[in-house]
Amino acid sequence: MPNFRNVLIPAPKSRFIRVRCNQCGNEQVIFDHATVEVRCLVCGNLLARPTGGRAEILGTVVKVLE
Ligand SMILES: [Zn+2]
Repeated sequence: MPNFRNVLIPAPKSRFIRVRCNQCGNEQVIFDHATVEVRCLVCGNLLARPTGGRAEILGTVVKVLE
């Protein structure tokens, strides 16, 4: 039996946030630990960029969803 306590990675404090696109004003919900670039669904503007931890948010954060 492997000791799973040594295997589990502590869950990061990750959240979903509502971000407004600075280019077209569209709001969409994104993951704040995004590991891929997140683009606006309307105009394709970059909203978040992965940094290895918490994503760098390039749009305007409207609301943090718990
Ligand atoms: Zn947009």
